[in-house]
Amino acid sequence: MTTPSIELKPSSHPLSDAEREEILASPGFGRHFTDHMVTIKWTEGRGWHEAQLVPYAPLSLDPANMTLHYAQTIFEGLKAYRQPDGTVATFRPEQNAERFQASARRMAMPELPVDLFLAACDALVTQDRAWVPGSGEESLYLRPFMIASEVGLGVRPANEYLFVVIASPAGAYFPRGVHPVSVWLSEEYVRAAPGGTGTAKAGGNYAASLVAQAQAAEQGCDQVVWLDAIERRWIEEMGGMNLYFVYGNRIVTPELSGSLLPGITRASLLRIAEDLGYEVAEGRISVDDWRAGNEDGSLTEVFACGTAAVITPVGSVKSARASWTVGDGQPGEVTTKLRKALLDIQTGAAPDPHGWLHRVG
Ligand SMILES: *Cc1c(COP(=O)(O)O)cnc(C)c1O
Repeated sequence: MTTPSIELKPSSHPLSDAEREEILASPGFGRHFTDHMVTIKWTEGRGWHEAQLVPYAPLSLDPANMTLHYAQTIFEGLKAYRQPDGTVATFRPEQNAERFQASARRMAMPELPVDLFLAACDALVTQDRAWVPGSGEESLYLRPFMIASEVGLGVRPANEYLFVVIASPAGAYFPRGVHPVSVWLSEEYVRAAPGGTGTAKAGGNYAASLVAQAQAAEQGCDQVVWLDAIERRWIEEMGGMNLYFVYGNRIVTPELSGSLLPGITRASLLRIAEDLGYEVAEGRISVDDWRAGNEDGSLTEVFACGTAAVITPVGSVKSARASWTVGDGQPGEVTTKLRKALLDIQTGAAPDPHGWLHRVG
């Protein structure tokens, strides 16, 4: 089985420049999609085939499609940024390709070769490069995903799958300045348990998280913070983002316990923080540590990180038992500095010492 190349079948009726510009003036997040998508099929015995770039269009699914019932579905999220010279670059896409393979293994789905994942993203960004916004933090968000495409209600791994990449222009996450979030510590619900699917970027993890997010909102909080499933004591993640704790010059992020999603932003910040001279560690942080650190002043800042928002400061914490403010409740100095350092690399405003940018067309 050889790696197929992507056949280009572009749309004969893409949006006009004026229509596209109107969307790009205020894109929001995940509301508008570009003119094209890439689809690749996989069938047992035949492997990956029919790799095509085609006009963006609805998928037609049989009601007995296995994904609709048993949720064999995984996804990725990465961004393409306009560079100062007008070219476009994606950020560490090979990391997304590798994580996509790891997610596939966990969900008993076929692994898409890394070069095919990259070729699919590149083909879509190249074709729809006019959709990459022109400035600063704005980007074109890429959403690769895979579903089972076999029809039937028998419970087993499907023997046919469909890989798709779609793209959506994204505005700056904080158009009116970086704003800290309030968080609710979820002691009733857990996101992931040892041996579960927490390390996979699987749709089902998100479905299972929504009721806790709704509970956070009822408590007047913006986001839910997940604790470990066994002791309900160790901090894991915030919503769909990883967390960092800043103790002056020392920065700690929860270690990859087996139920955390290994974020690419998290991994990138481990390197950037070290480059900037911080002492960096992966460790265990309990709810009590968090509260005590804020009370005695040793814990100065907390922030969350992920592709969509890059870095979001955490301003206050609430649980069934207690509530407290993080630092002075405002975006901290280290948070702000790391956010700028990462965004500067992504947008080409600063050098890219680790070779993280992948030039596309
Ligand atoms: C995607 C995701 C993250 C962040 O990963 P990035 O690669 O940094 O975008 C963190 N937690 C969860 C649960 C996620 O799904």
